[in-house]
Amino acid sequence: MPVVTGADQAAREFSRHPGAVSTPTRTDVLVVGAGPAGSAAAAWAADAGHDVVLADAAVFPRDKACGDGLTPRAIAELEHLGLGDWVRGRGQNRGLRAAGFGQLLTLPWPGGSLPAHGGAVARTELDARIRSVALERGAQPVEGARAVDVERDGDRVSGVVFDTAEGPRTIACRRLVVADGARSTLGRVLGRVWHRDTAYGVAARAYVRSGRHDDEWISSHLELRGTDDEVLSGYGWVFPLHDGHVNIGVGTLATEARPANVRLRSLIAHYAAQRREDWQLEGEVRDVASALLPMGGAVSGVAGPNWALVGDAAGLVNPLNGEGIDYGLESGRTIAGLLGDEGDGGDLSLAWPATLRRQYGSAFSIARRLAGLLTVPRLLPLAGPVGMRSRMLMTVALRVMGNLVTEEDADLVARAWRGAGRASLRADELPPFPAADLRTPLAAS
Ligand SMILES: Cc1cc2nc3c(=O)[nH]c(=O)nc-3n(C[C@H](O)[C@H](O)[C@H](O)COP(=O)(O)OP(=O)(O)OC[C@H]3O[C@@H](n4cnc5c(N)ncnc54)[C@H](O)[C@@H]3O)c2cc1C
Repeated sequence: MPVVTGADQAAREFSRHPGAVSTPTRTDVLVVGAGPAGSAAAAWAADAGHDVVLADAAVFPRDKACGDGLTPRAIAELEHLGLGDWVRGRGQNRGLRAAGFGQLLTLPWPGGSLPAHGGAVARTELDARIRSVALERGAQPVEGARAVDVERDGDRVSGVVFDTAEGPRTIACRRLVVADGARSTLGRVLGRVWHRDTAYGVAARAYVRSGRHDDEWISSHLELRGTDDEVLSGYGWVFPLHDGHVNIGVGTLATEARPANVRLRSLIAHYAAQRREDWQLEGEVRDVASALLPMGGAVSGVAGPNWALVGDAAGLVNPLNGEGIDYGLESGRTIAGLLGDEGDGGDLSLAWPATLRRQYGSAFSIARRLAGLLTVPRLLPLAGPVGMRSRMLMTVALRVMGNLVTEEDADLVARAWRGAGRASLRADELPPFPAADLRTPLAAS
């Protein structure tokens, strides 16, 4: 049973009567967006003794388009937040069942320095639970408040302006963490630009009840075929949840030069029809929701002197599998660790992109290079059957595609992957998390 704090009660009160709890007017750390990234940032910042306000446009619990899959990296972060037992209580899976090109492989999670299990929890439930950790640690909630603008003091942000049911409200802050997701409207106000010349994701998910009670493995179909039977550069998934439903979805890769050109609603219906018998799907798929996903740090302008973007807002999504809950949680924890330095004269403008590049630069660089290759027509139909014939190759692929290689891992695959990543990063014309003025943006998000 979670501890109910004053902040929690305030949150519930606000949910019942948005506007009933007065919006705070100032705080030390203001976090905008209460998804995994924002809630983790708020939890860790409150833990470090900062006064924190955690604001969101939505009223919780709220849905979010997602596959709901939790990689071992995400499980590790949930453990850090004290949610290990909670997430394990919602089922755990042992790895990936990968199908395609006439093959079916079961590939266990590699383990190593990360947990050897994953999970899957609907985001309505997961995000509300992570957010409650932030509130339990003392973050003050604000809901139904859409951040629309910032107030500045020179090049620093001194406050954020919100649209609320009561009209505009401003919350003054010393530091700002922007965790408002892939579209990042507040990030755009601050000058964030999404570069779409490297791979980005186009994905949709739905829910449907399944008679097949099989949550030991998550399933991916690496031979995703469109409605004209063409092979698409992406994959379909069936992630079983603990309540008898599955999250079913499709995701494809695109670049500015090679847009996806898929109709996601038709594609997800087509994919579900193919899976219906095998997964004993009952009734129609429902709650179809989709989004575009910036990937691999392909956004510039991720920080200013006293503000930083985290999670999807900073393009922290793995280009090879589209997952970002783990990076959201990790970046929330990492930024909280830097907020104390800023008070001593530290400036996040350079420190934050440098930290992100150190942590993710080489892995994202090589991953988005490979993801870009997958968008080349006819490559996947040629390479897919070769790859799928080798269990060893696919075991390595699962590990590197999932970025389940950490700095602590010293085996051959880990060293080779890190080496390839460093070489890729050196060759990048536009490295992940470029400074705002590095190059004229190709496309603003
Ligand atoms: C179809 C699909 C499937 C995916 N599947 C997976 C998967 O299986 N596993 C995985 O790890 N990742 C998956 N991802 C990626 C994952 O959903 C994201 O990486 C993750 O949600 C990022 O978390 P976040 O906290 O950065 O942003 P979000 O979870 O998007 O949270 C952003 C929050 O900000 C709020 N907000 C937005 N704008 C404002 C504003 N102006 N003012 C105030 N609040 C605002 C929103 O209401 C929201 O609560 C998938 C994505 C898609 C689209």
